[in-house]
Amino acid sequence: MKRVEDYIRTIVDFPHEGIMFRDVTTLFADPRGFRMAIDQMLHPYAGIDIDKVVGLEARGFILGGAIAHQLSVGFVPIRKKGKLPGTTISQEYKLEYGEAIVEIHDDAIQPGEKVLVVDDLLATGGTAEAGIKLIERLGGEIVSTAFIIDLPELGGRKKLEAMGMEVHALCA
Ligand code: IMP
Repeated sequence: MKRVEDYIRTIVDFPHEGIMFRDVTTLFADPRGFRMAIDQMLHPYAGIDIDKVVGLEARGFILGGAIAHQLSVGFVPIRKKGKLPGTTISQEYKLEYGEAIVEIHDDAIQPGEKVLVVDDLLATGGTAEAGIKLIERLGGEIVSTAFIIDLPELGGRKKLEAMGMEVHALCA
């Protein structure tokens, strides 16, 4: 039987030379692969109290939407600067070259709500860390973080675990 990682392809030299880009669109496009990924991402959370799923732009929206639907809870997007229409709070974070800013609507999470953070891939952990900071600034409690792929050599898991986060990933 095919595993989740068998549906993911690697594109060499994208978006820059030397980068091996893990492309999950082939996983999303396959009905068995997509269902398998969502089911496996949900598995650790059976019986766990979750009020909201937060997805990180952009592939975290696809995964987070499906997971929120399965859990019958609301979905909240964290987007790159300037994309959300309402009042937002912002968080800066470091990229390999330069900086980026992510935002969340300031009324999207209520204090004390239990939040699951979702994205496709954990690399340095900078994006997830910025998202976690936004949720915590609104008073949300992060229950866990869930990814399809963890690239442990890039240090993201260590970074998130050092913040006290639980990290679940389906493959490396
Ligand atoms: P980090 O902030 O360094 O952990 O990078 C993770 C973010 O970059 C996530 O939002 C991913 O979607 C994106 N990303 C980085 N590398 C890849 C890749 O190889 N495939 C898909 N997304 C990636």
